[in-house]
Amino acid sequence: MARFLASTRAEGPGERTAVWVNGCAIRCAGCFNPHMWSARGGEPVAPEELVARTLGAGTDGLTLLGGEPFDQAAALSRVAAGVRAAGRSVMTFTGYRADDLRQAVRTGRDDVAALLAETDLLVAGPFLADRIDRVRPWVGSTNQEFVLLSDRIAGSVDELSATPDRLEITVDGSGRVAVNGWATPDTLEDLLNGLGTSRPAAEPHQRRSILAGRAAGVLRRGSP
Ligand code: SF4
Repeated sequence: MARFLASTRAEGPGERTAVWVNGCAIRCAGCFNPHMWSARGGEPVAPEELVARTLGAGTDGLTLLGGEPFDQAAALSRVAAGVRAAGRSVMTFTGYRADDLRQAVRTGRDDVAALLAETDLLVAGPFLADRIDRVRPWVGSTNQEFVLLSDRIAGSVDELSATPDRLEITVDGSGRVAVNGWATPDTLEDLLNGLGTSRPAAEPHQRRSILAGRAAGVLRRGSP
């Protein structure tokens, strides 16, 4: 796991717990989170513990992001199952196309089938930097598709046009600034300049690139 965020309103419908995972074999040009490409690093966490942490947060559900959730689909399907068994919803972002996942299931990928079975709302497709989506919330590029896999949060897809994108910023008592959500390059640069830094801090497992999109990371005031 690259990051656990107990509560956010910027990563899907309602108030959600968000988990970014390490490891992504897709490697889209212009990815916002290349520091999460490697499967090494991050925090090892057992599925049962992640379920407990998510349910303890008391939010509407869990959003899985990355990195690539389907690159560790078996473990995350157990997390998703535990969250859904408690009546919460699961939203999963993936850089794979929905058709590719369906094909993987047809060829015997039970781990992929299991995570799809425990996902209520799938957001599928690679990020394409030349097709930035400035209309729909949560997605980075216009090719990415919302795929409803249950009716648990079906209403959120009907309300997409009325849902704003959000950039969420949290400052703790030590001056540490955590960022997640979506913003244009100009907005992110303005934010960084306002913090007195033009580059994000290079934390061992939490850093973000200054690109449009779904950022996830931690900045430090005055970092080089
Ligand atoms: S945008 Fe998502 S799928 Fe694409 S390389 Fe980055 S983490 Fe992987």
